[in-house]
Amino acid sequence: MYLENNRYELSGGVDIIALTEKYGCPLYVYDSAIIKRQFKRINEAFKVKRLKINYACKALTNISILKLLRAEGAGLDTVSIQEVELGLLAGFKPQDIIYTPNCVGLNEIEEAVELGVRINIDNISILEQFGQGFPDIPVCIRINPHIVAGGNRKISVGHIDSKFGISIHQMPHVHKVVEATGLKIEGIHMHTGSDIYEPEVFLNGAEILFNIAESFQDLDYLDFGSGFKVPYKQGDIETDIEALGTLISKRFNEFCESYGKNLTLIFEPGKFIVSEAGSFLVRVNVIKQTTSNIFAGVDSGLNHLIRPMFYDAHHEIINISNPSGRSRFYTIVGYICETDTFGTNRRIAEIREGDVLAMKNAGAYCFSMASNYNSRFRPAEVLIHEGKDYLIRKRETMDDLLRNQVVADISSNSLGE
Ligand SMILES: *Cc1c(COP(=O)(O)O)cnc(C)c1O
Repeated sequence: MYLENNRYELSGGVDIIALTEKYGCPLYVYDSAIIKRQFKRINEAFKVKRLKINYACKALTNISILKLLRAEGAGLDTVSIQEVELGLLAGFKPQDIIYTPNCVGLNEIEEAVELGVRINIDNISILEQFGQGFPDIPVCIRINPHIVAGGNRKISVGHIDSKFGISIHQMPHVHKVVEATGLKIEGIHMHTGSDIYEPEVFLNGAEILFNIAESFQDLDYLDFGSGFKVPYKQGDIETDIEALGTLISKRFNEFCESYGKNLTLIFEPGKFIVSEAGSFLVRVNVIKQTTSNIFAGVDSGLNHLIRPMFYDAHHEIINISNPSGRSRFYTIVGYICETDTFGTNRRIAEIREGDVLAMKNAGAYCFSMASNYNSRFRPAEVLIHEGKDYLIRKRETMDDLLRNQVVADISSNSLGE
């Protein structure tokens, strides 16, 4: 599902250059048709009696995107109390939201209990405190299966040194806590993160989870997390979600039979649902030829899209202003006073100052990781839906930068003027 270089299409024939004229640059653009298609793909890949796809909203939390996915039938996976609140504002029912925090205090978990959402606990200390405080509220536990999946250590969270989850070797301790407090465990969860693209590797992790699930009597669901890989460039391997679906569904149905109950199968993809739907549009300010490079300096930087600098992520970059120009090699850099390279030695249709470049796969972990570094404004976001464009977040202004700043009255002490 990878478009050739320089081709750029939005659903419904929306003109992307016109969008930059209407809303300015830099600009995030999301295509609802792709979000819906990806959600449908994953929803149809699994053939089980009870299936729930919870969108991991940290990938892209704009409330219009949350509403779109709610209308498609998704639940929500959240990692902070603020994400829980955004989900409720977007109209998700509390029971369709699961709260999976890491290293938060009991106070934040208590807030989630008050809001009525499902709770996923990832350490024994909190499990004990929770059991003493709320013995009647069923919870899910997050296990650490100790598997290394995929290649990117920075986004791998299921290995033995990881801070996430309760070790599978600590299950005897978990059972003691459950017996002592009378807690009901309603779900078992794992999320290995990283880039899993081999269905067999995923199944190995699933077997570990099945093994643990057998020892809990009151289960209602099994949550296998996410980590599905999407292609960022030509030749990239994508998780074969259909093959994975066939493999996991068969094994899950067998497990339910031996367990004696039809449990709900849950997945919580973020990237798989929204990555491809997003594009980040930037304008070229300067073409700078040095002894070894042609730099194209754009009106954005690591403050708006940090994945290339943070994870060495590859985002395809195309020149949508001059798609049929002759290709040359460029290094695309940002305007931040720090090295912020979007792409090195990329072959791109000839770039002129003023051209608009599109960075692809900018739906997941792009806007949601944006900051105000260098006191720059965060960009606007636009949603393309059924042939129309909708502004879903305004570009920031000076008021936003100043909103919470308080000018200290220090004129009377020696530091004052
Ligand atoms: C981030 C996260 C996800 C989503 O991961 P993707 O790679 O974006 O699909 C799912 N579950 C949990 C608990 C997460 O923290």
